[in-house]
Amino acid sequence: MIAADSRSIAVIGGGISGLTMALRLREQGHAVTLIEASGQLGGLGTFFDYEGRTFEKFYHCMLPSDGPLLEILETLGLTDEVYWKPSSFAYAFQKKIFALNGALDLLKFKPLSFIERIRVGITGAYGRIASDKGLDQMTTAEWLGKLSGASAFKKFWQPMLEAKFGDRYADVPALWFWTRFNREKGESKGEVKGYIRGGYKRITDTFVAHLKKKGVTLRLNTPVVRIDLDDDAQPIVITDRGEETFDQVVVTLPWPGFSKSAGQNLRAASGRIDWNIDFQGVINCLFFLRRPLTKHYWLATPEPSFPFDGIIETSTLTDESDRGENRHVVYLTKYLHRTDARFATPDEAIGKDWFAALQQLFPDLTEQDIEARHIFRAPFVEPVYTKGYLARRPPEVLVPGKVYLATSAQVYPTVTSWNGSVIQAKRTLDAMAADPLPQRKAVKAEARELAVA
Ligand SMILES: Cc1cc2nc3c(=O)[nH]c(=O)nc-3n(C[C@H](O)[C@H](O)[C@H](O)COP(=O)(O)OP(=O)(O)OC[C@H]3O[C@@H](n4cnc5c(N)ncnc54)[C@H](O)[C@@H]3O)c2cc1C
Repeated sequence: MIAADSRSIAVIGGGISGLTMALRLREQGHAVTLIEASGQLGGLGTFFDYEGRTFEKFYHCMLPSDGPLLEILETLGLTDEVYWKPSSFAYAFQKKIFALNGALDLLKFKPLSFIERIRVGITGAYGRIASDKGLDQMTTAEWLGKLSGASAFKKFWQPMLEAKFGDRYADVPALWFWTRFNREKGESKGEVKGYIRGGYKRITDTFVAHLKKKGVTLRLNTPVVRIDLDDDAQPIVITDRGEETFDQVVVTLPWPGFSKSAGQNLRAASGRIDWNIDFQGVINCLFFLRRPLTKHYWLATPEPSFPFDGIIETSTLTDESDRGENRHVVYLTKYLHRTDARFATPDEAIGKDWFAALQQLFPDLTEQDIEARHIFRAPFVEPVYTKGYLARRPPEVLVPGKVYLATSAQVYPTVTSWNGSVIQAKRTLDAMAADPLPQRKAVKAEARELAVA
């Protein structure tokens, strides 16, 4: 069915943001073309084949509080395929592992003095009830330092922040941390995480089938080189297949990529936008092991002797049917900027050094325990946040009636995640609905019929 105000809309980028935008815009009756650079949809939730199954290149799970994402899964008929399991967190300190999942664990947490434990506990409890007012204007270091005290901040919170932001941790606004506190607080009975039968590829495959059935045009392997406005101020998208005009364009690219492809006319029409929002990258080293390491989903390794910041044992969450019998799946993760020399370290060296560091913590772990190893890098994961980011956050409407944004640079203060991207997509859809459609050329009905057939 074609809506009375049906428009031709290009959605650029096929991660969860682009998939969600394409789905909802098509439901509104628009002729939607989704353009993705790679041969795979799913963006950072991307996957690879291994021994007849698929695995995420970067560990992924859901939380019970991911309501908007779960709504999308319901639209796709996948709700019953999601399973939930209790999950736990631990902290490695001087080659010992300390579980850290509640007040009792904190009381026994040796890395901190007794007073520091009490202050961290009070910070945790306060962080969940505190108002977020003014927190964008204050750094996390200032906020947590005040609440927990300088020494507990240095020993406990700073390594966690460094794990995520590297040496840029000191700039991150307290609002980011407040949101994270609240996203991960979990259920009253303890923390629970969710995964989907068949892995995240299942979600992407179902999206693809659904979008195709509904008549969305999917263009894979089509990197967008430039997004601009032509001489009639119509949005144009340029790829190696040529130039195409649309009524509207929705950009879902990581910000540095969009900034590179935004043409002159578009920039001129965009008003005051911060085109220089920088992004953090990540390296994940995935081991398929023949034995488990711990019972914890996440083990923080903040001491400088570790070349990675955390050990994520996703097989504590995933069913054997999703990973293989007696196969244990462990990701070692390091967030760092793409210009950091370590980002270019050869795979061989990462595999060797990181495994040696893992053995420091698990001395009985041997090479024979490794079934396989894979290394993945993502240069653009999320913005490097700075104080007052709310004022720098790009708007949903870039050029009224024509160019819109639903990118990971806008998800803040929500945590960047599939759920955060779905929330952002909803904000963008609301902004589009409220944005008056400018005068535009008649769109060829024939072409439109074809696109939505
Ligand atoms: C290590 C790691 C762990 C994570 N863990 C979780 C988790 O447990 N749970 C969770 O919910 N989230 C997690 N996330 C975050 C989540 O993956 C992202 O927040 C989310 O995928 C962002 O989606 P997006 O669509 O906005 O952007 P992206 O996923 O970055 O998608 C952008 C898309 O644009 C495409 N593109 C880029 N350039 C062009 C171009 N020129 N032309 C056309 N297309 C282009 C890309 O190929 C990509 O498909 C994790 C991320 C990482 C890196």
